[in-house]
Formats: sequence, C-alpha cells, structure tokens
Amino acid sequence: MSHLLPVVVATPAHSGLGPSLTYEHPHLLPPGTLVRVPLGKREVLGVVWDGAPAEGGADMATRPITEALDALVPLPAAWRQLVGFAARYYQRSLGEVSLAALPPQLRELNGVQLARRLKRAPAAPATHVPPALPELSPEQQDAMVRLDSARQPVLLFGSTGSGKTEIYLRAVQQLLDADPLAQALVMVPEINLTPQLETRFGERFGAAGVVAMHSGMTPPQRLASWLAAHSGAVRIVLGTRMAVFASLPHLRLIVVDEEHDPSYKSQEGARYSARDLAVYLAKQVNDAHSTEATGPAHCRVLLGSATPSLESWHAAESGRYLRLAMPSRIGGGSLPRLRLVDMNHQPRKTLLAQPLLDAITERIARGEQSLLLLNRRGYAPVLACHDCGWKSECAHCSAHRVFHKIDRTLRCHHCGFTERVPRACPACGNLDIAPLGRGTEQIEEHIIERLAGVLRPDGTPAQVARMDADSTRLKGSLEQHLARMHSGEVDVLVGTQMVAKGHDFRRITLVASVNADAALFASDCRAPERLFALLMQAAGRAGRDASLGATSEMWVQTGYPQHPLFAALRQHDYPKFAAQELSDREAAAMPPFAHQALVRADARSQETAQAFLNEAAALATELPGADQVTVFPAVPMTIQRVANVERAQMLLESPSRIALQRFLAAWQPTLLAVRQGPAGKGLVRWAIDVDPLNL
Ligand code: ADP
Ligand code: ZN
Ligand code: ZN
Repeated sequence: MSHLLPVVVATPAHSGLGPSLTYEHPHLLPPGTLVRVPLGKREVLGVVWDGAPAEGGADMATRPITEALDALVPLPAAWRQLVGFAARYYQRSLGEVSLAALPPQLRELNGVQLARRLKRAPAAPATHVPPALPELSPEQQDAMVRLDSARQPVLLFGSTGSGKTEIYLRAVQQLLDADPLAQALVMVPEINLTPQLETRFGERFGAAGVVAMHSGMTPPQRLASWLAAHSGAVRIVLGTRMAVFASLPHLRLIVVDEEHDPSYKSQEGARYSARDLAVYLAKQVNDAHSTEATGPAHCRVLLGSATPSLESWHAAESGRYLRLAMPSRIGGGSLPRLRLVDMNHQPRKTLLAQPLLDAITERIARGEQSLLLLNRRGYAPVLACHDCGWKSECAHCSAHRVFHKIDRTLRCHHCGFTERVPRACPACGNLDIAPLGRGTEQIEEHIIERLAGVLRPDGTPAQVARMDADSTRLKGSLEQHLARMHSGEVDVLVGTQMVAKGHDFRRITLVASVNADAALFASDCRAPERLFALLMQAAGRAGRDASLGATSEMWVQTGYPQHPLFAALRQHDYPKFAAQELSDREAAAMPPFAHQALVRADARSQETAQAFLNEAAALATELPGADQVTVFPAVPMTIQRVANVERAQMLLESPSRIALQRFLAAWQPTLLAVRQGPAGKGLVRWAIDVDPLNL
C-alpha cells in the first residue's frame, strides 16, 4: 500500500502553484521529513508538509518520492510553523521560503552523501573548563531575577557598556544547566560582529559547543553548522538574521542583540524581519508545549538594545513586553559628554574643526584612541566640472558615481558600474575636475596630513586606519583591522557605521560624527530614530573602560546645533526621545500606530512600472479588508533608476494589521493576473514589502 504526501519544493515566488505538490511513498513519512522528489526532468529537495495532500492530487499521474532522507530527524513543528507564517505574512510562496531557509548544499546531497556528512560530525568535544565568572552588577542581578520569571518577550534596555552581553551569556548558562538538551539562538545584526560574539561565547562555553550561521560562510561550513544544530549536537547557534531559520529542535532561548538594527530586515526575497520572526517563533514553541503539556519548558525571547526600535519600545510601554532597564555602565563609568561643533562658525569647507583635531591630538599623546564616523565610503560622493557642470552620473542609474581615489575609479554603489577616473571633463575637456562632498577615504587622507608630526607616548608617529566595506572586503581583513584596533596599534580609526556598532574597544575616549546633517531632514519618518540610535551607539564605543569614562567625549559636527535630537542625545535620554517620536508617530498615524506595506514594481520604463501598480490598485477596491486599507498612488522610488531599470512603489496603510494582511492575501491573484495581462508588459519584477523600513 502507498501513501499520498504533500511535499513542499522550491517554487518561484509568484508561480501561482499551490503551496505543496503531491507525491507517493510506501511509508507514511512524518511532516518535516526531507525528501528528494522528481520535478519536471529534475530531481529536487523537498520537505514533507503537514496536512492532507492537495485535493485532486491523486488524479494526476502522481510520482513517487525518489528518496526519503530519513537519516535526519524531521524538521521540527515550530520550524514548519515559522516558515509557513513567514511565507503568509510576507506574501511569498511556501516553497520559496522553506527551501531558502535550508542550507544550499543540502539540495545537492542524496541519502548516501548525507550519511557520510553526518558521520563526519566532530568527535565528542574536549571538556571545557569554564572561566571564572565576573560578579554581576546590581542591575545585572536584578535583570537576571526578573528575566527568570518573565513569560512575555523581554526588552533588555541597557546602556552601551552596561553588560548586556553578560546577561545573554548567563541566560544561556542557566538554560544549559537546567535542561540537558536545550538550545539557544543568539543573533547580531552584522557579520562583522560575529567574530567578537563567537570569541565571548567560545571562552565561556568552549568553542566546540558553539556554531555560527551567516552569509559569509562557505556552503560546506553552513551545512556543517546547520547539521550540528539540527541534530542537537550543538546547543548554541550564533548568527545574523538568517539564523532565525535554523532548525533547533530544543530551542529554549532566542536573543536578538541590537534589536533596533535595520539589518534584521531582509531586503530581498521574502522581506522578513528576523526580530519579529524571533518573537513569533518563541510563541510557537511555547504554544506547542502548552498543548503537549511537557512541563515547564519555555522558550524565552530577549531583545537587547540601548536604543530600542520604537515598535519594541511601544510594546514595552503598553505592557506586551517586559522591560528590564540597565542604565549604568559596568564599573560606574559615565557616558561620554556631547560636544557639538557649530559648523556655521567654522571656515568654509572645513572637514574637521580645529577644536576636534586638538582633542584628537591630546588623546594620541595620552595613548588613547579616537573614532571618526562618516557614513559614506570612497573619497567623495561626486566628481564635478566647475566649467560646464558635468557630474559623475552613472550611465545606468539615477545616482552619482562615487570617486575612489585609492584606485582612481568612479564607482556606482548601486549597480557596480566602474570606470577609471577621466583625465579631463568628458563633456568639455576642462582638466580641472574636482571632488564634491566627502567620504571616508578623504577624511582618512585629511587626518593623516593634519596629524603629521604628532607622536604617541612611545615617541612613534600616530597611526590612522580606515574601516569600511572597501577596506574589509578581503577575507581576513576585517579580523586584522579589529585586532590592530584592540591591540592599540591604531590611534585614529575612520569608518562607516560598521565601526559604530557593538564593538568592545577598550581605549577609545573620543568618537566624532563628521557630518550627519542629511539624516536630520530626510523625508523617511525613521531617519531621526536611526540617527539617534547611530549616534548613541557610536558614543557607546567611547569610555568603555570605566577609568577613562570621565574624559570620554562624543563630538558631532553639525550646521543645526539647536536641533531637539541633540538635546536628548546630550542627556543620553532615549526614553524622552522615544516619547517624542512616538507621539509624533501617533499624531501622523504612522507605525507602530498604523501598519504599512509597499508594493514595488521594476520595469523598463517608469510609466510601465506605475501603470502596473495603479491598475492592480484599481482592481482591488472590493477586496476583503479594502475598506480599512488606504492605497496611495504609485510614485517613483527615491533612486528611480538602478541598472537601467525604472522603479516605482505604492504605499498601503491600515490601522489594522489583520485587515492589511487579509487585503494583501486576497490581492495576490489580482497582481499575478495584471502581471500576465497587457499592463504587465515590460514589467521586470514586482514584490511586496510588509512592514517596510525604507519608504
Ligand atoms: P553591552 O553589550 O551592554 O554594550 P558588554 O556586555 O559588552 O556591554 O559589557 C561591557 C564590558 O563590561 C565588557 O568588557 C564586559 O566583559 C564587561 N562586563 C560585563 N559585565 C561585567 C561584570 N558583571 N563585571 C565585570 N565586567 C563586566
Ligand atoms: Zn566640463
Ligand atoms: Zn549605477
């Protein structure tokens, strides 16, 4: 006798195929079993899904499952629920989301190869001798006690340097001690923070007990980590947003560090928020347990930040999340003092104001480090001709190409189009073409010039380094940069926001934001929140050693020193800032008081892109939920053209998340039909972004 089984395979996002296909197998395989099945002429990886096979599935010539990969235990129910939810909520196909959630190499292996991989699993780890633990601060102790009894998601609102990581470590420790199987997932927003995290967890729990998951790993490494977690052999998974989709059969704790960070939101494929999914996942695990009545097992979710997202802050204010505050820095050090430089009173074209340079010089003489932040890599964002007005526009995008002096190129940061810098203006032949604006390369060059002759306490010349996506591209270069910074070899580090986040540099006593004014007046309602978080984060890199706290400073060069954001920053008063922002958001009916989605369309022409969106909107007025959803007209995106593709978007807003969800789900077939009809001609792609972060 044979069984019909629903199997999910990779399907394109908008294929219109049902969520699963039906296959035949002699045994009733449990949901979550990985299988290999024929699809067309190929053989592909699939997952046996829950529920009955699709209606009528048996009428077609149902094909047999080629092979059940049953050397692996089935993917856990909570994982299947998470993937199913992500597909529904973010409006993608189940096949796309579920297969994308598995390590790519798994797709290529048959049962024999997989069995070989499993055998390769590391031998029993050497016993690890745990280090002496630091005594918790009173705030940390209090946080641990309250964490222990929490039954709702926890927001750990702790200043930079308050010891949040120690809380994560202790929470993991408690869990491992209490339950011999339990697993923990710890996420950070950026790959460049994973080495530091791996070190700290490795020291505490032994390197063999910890695996990483992020996109910087090779396919074999990713598969090995995934198998270790899925089999339960490893109990701690550290990773970036993708790690939320790890298969952890005994998951009991999820930590989302720097939970406010926009990097938790994916910007391609299913545009999921790993933070939001973490909260959902914990709830699934708990619901499953309450029905199975397996006792006190509980999955905790811990969101940590010094500047929480307004969404999480609002949830804490309204009591849905438990807020644990750790306002003090470890060792009692103070947060850096704010020094605003009014650039209106500086000579024109000043890159770094004299008082700032003096303050940096003083620090070098004392053997302390400084950090200069500018959120723009390259030498200058534009190269221009003053005679004819030519600018280094990209031929393929509505954006300027950035001047990189180091290799004398003009590079488009949107499409990658790169050319040698022309000797003369391509339009009029003028030899005098000049950079406009500034990037990290220029600041680096400038500060090296200005520090010529400045000596360190040991009499050697001051050292400057730059850390941004360009200087850390080569494998190992990021680690090298970080090591040079930690060892004190570097006196001044120039970098983009990548250096502002999370790093525990011990000897920094000065952080300066070279120019952040653009963000003060950006049209995106999240710009102030992001700037505030970035400046607080950046300030948090200074004075982490309590003995240096008193002299640490955060400098901001601005043309708008009276801006209210700086008043809150001066007092390190996130709650005050958040209260103001939330009341503005409430008045304007913006998230978290309303719910949004974007539909984006890319096409050969702007007209086509907008016409597709407007036509789909015109057909949506009667859909369920439509009475509670405002659909705005299509508009061009801020950067309208990228790589010769015109981009448009349409905003949807609703006071009700459920209404918006119902509307989007009902709208999908319409969007598909319009795409296939005349209005879809010339359309390159379209996508829905639920809870978008960039408008
Ligand atoms: P955060 O993540 O809140 O910015 P960290 O967890 O990185 O802060 O802690 C800042 C520094 O304080 C780290 O060097 C950490 O090792 C140290 N630290 C944390 N907790 C304690 C403690 N209870 N006693 C001594 N040092 C601690
Ligand atoms: Zn010219
Ligand atoms: Zn371009």
